[in-house]
Amino acid sequence: MATVSSPGLADSLSRLGTESAFSVLARARELERAGHEVIHLEIGEPDFPTPAHVCEAAFEAIRRGHTGYCPSAGVHALREAAADYLSRSRQIDVQPERVLVGTGAKPFLFFTILASCNPGDEVIYPDPGFPIYRSAISWAGATPVPLPLREDRDFVFDPGELEARLTGRTKLVILNSPQNPTGGLIDQETLTEAARLLERSNAWVLSDEVYSRLVYEGEFASIASRPGMLERTILLDGVSKTYAMTGWRCGFAAVPEPLVDPLERFFVNSTSCVPPFIQYAAVAALTGPQHPVEAMVSEFRERRRLIVQGLNRLDGVSCREPRGAFYAFPNVSQLPLTADQLSGRLLDDAGVALLPGSAFGPNGHNHLRLSYANSQTNLHRALERITTFLQSLA
Ligand code: PLP
Repeated sequence: MATVSSPGLADSLSRLGTESAFSVLARARELERAGHEVIHLEIGEPDFPTPAHVCEAAFEAIRRGHTGYCPSAGVHALREAAADYLSRSRQIDVQPERVLVGTGAKPFLFFTILASCNPGDEVIYPDPGFPIYRSAISWAGATPVPLPLREDRDFVFDPGELEARLTGRTKLVILNSPQNPTGGLIDQETLTEAARLLERSNAWVLSDEVYSRLVYEGEFASIASRPGMLERTILLDGVSKTYAMTGWRCGFAAVPEPLVDPLERFFVNSTSCVPPFIQYAAVAALTGPQHPVEAMVSEFRERRRLIVQGLNRLDGVSCREPRGAFYAFPNVSQLPLTADQLSGRLLDDAGVALLPGSAFGPNGHNHLRLSYANSQTNLHRALERITTFLQSLA
């Protein structure tokens, strides 16, 4: 048979990263197919069902015929509900015309960077941080400028280090609180100081607040609430994490006026729209009963205690108390294996899937990330397996 040579791929693919949670999940599934039992602490999604009234709203919208194309910016009911939600929760005044709806929060990361950056522009982003930030910055041809999150500051950036990285070329600064992968929560004082620096800069701010409702200690605050910041901030949230709706793919953002039309054009060019029946479900999530969220947060609080205490009992492991999201980020530098080796061995030898901190940037390299979006029973079992594995190394 004649061999067909590959027509080749785009050079730019070398700049496109990935999210290793998905590759570890794939490896874990492979082990499961081979008959091994794996405890999943790798993937960042609530293990709770989407609230019943939200599902019902989607069924009802389908019955009413909301199954065709709809405006790329989002249906008016959701833009209005999201504007109201963001205004109330951040004590700001967001108008529905400034709200855009996307297939999750994720596309806003890509499209904001593509819409605002030219090759050579600098983008400051948290390290360790959600890997898509760096991937999207590099893809756009912009220059990634990591802002270290240090363990001794509970993984909140130092405003002095932000100031040192702001230059005339800084086009965008990405903030994330509560934070993936560390669970860090930016405090009021740091936000005020950051706002003071950013207001004097010529940069947009992308504030990724998808975990805003998952806070266990301290109070969530948004940089968009600081004077003058709303006009330069893309304030990003969504229903994925708060309402256990990761697979529905629905996020929204309050966007400064000059970016509304460009971002909408990206949606027109790519996804056209978020399915309207999903948007009506998101309206029900934002405006309906909130007790499922409260119940989920209180369960996460218990699990956080369990996992952090369990990790701190292990010789050579130390874990700070995460304040929000649903991740623990223990330091494992005192163990005889590197975090990268540990994550591989824990999956293959102990059946515990988790991620090496290096998957979130060089500053994460001494850590593991464990998602505690799993039952207390499974968290206990995972801790037992990790304990037995570490004892086998001694
Ligand atoms: N931002 C952060 C920090 C995340 O951790 C995630 C998902 O893990 C997202 C954005 C993407 O969320 P969505 O499901 O709304 O696209």
